[in-house]
Amino acid sequence: MPDAARRPYVVGNWKLWGTRAAATGYCERLAELEPDGGWPVDTGLAVPFTALDAVVAGLHGRATAVLAQNMHQEQEGAFTGEISAPMLTELSVDGVVLGHSERRQLFGETDRALQEKVPAALAAGLQPILCVGETEEERERGETERKLRGQVQEGLDKVADERLADVVIAYEPIWAIGTGQVATPEQAQEAIAFVRALVADRSREAAELTRVLYGGSVKPGNAAEILAQEDVDGALVGGASLDPESFAQIVAAAAQ
Ligand code: PEP
Repeated sequence: MPDAARRPYVVGNWKLWGTRAAATGYCERLAELEPDGGWPVDTGLAVPFTALDAVVAGLHGRATAVLAQNMHQEQEGAFTGEISAPMLTELSVDGVVLGHSERRQLFGETDRALQEKVPAALAAGLQPILCVGETEEERERGETERKLRGQVQEGLDKVADERLADVVIAYEPIWAIGTGQVATPEQAQEAIAFVRALVADRSREAAELTRVLYGGSVKPGNAAEILAQEDVDGALVGGASLDPESFAQIVAAAAQ
């Protein structure tokens, strides 16, 4: 079980799914599923930019956080097609997923840009979720720790020690994302404990408080055993979060 100081956190990542109409219908269904007294753990939904205000409105008065799936590090400028932190906070968005492997692999997101994005999100009052994880080849070559070390150290490099625990980290092995090939609970625990140790290299106190999530083919049927691991503080859920019933079941598993 995770440390009591770290409240479990389950975040759905809709990726490139979710028109405004679909998002509104989703929020209505999720509200019906929410237990009296609210969800037993922290919850969040990372949705496409165009659905953000619909989800903010649909979840109004509820504790579920609304997150974007990316943002630019600069507040404004000649960066065609980009969205900045003040543009997100103006919509009452709570946080932002940064460095998702799909952005790294398909859209050229770099550790160097993330070094600027993570503190920019914090400065704007957004909760960053920094995604890290190795490819299958890197795991096979025994390079998982080297990869995680680089991503975590660079992503947190410009974050002050006293703000470290405000960054949520998602360990997402790339070979497990959208593949149905979930990490074993032991693999998730080992990698996440390593990520926590990297935070401890900066600040032991922050490491105790930093929430580190697992992501990669989490489903209602496999969530409980992964989330029961000592260092696993929650889940970043892609495909299974598109169905409000599945998402609610994973949230319930996180509370066990
Ligand atoms: C994700 O999008 O971060 C993710 C983990 O996807 P999936 O759950 O579909 O593997």
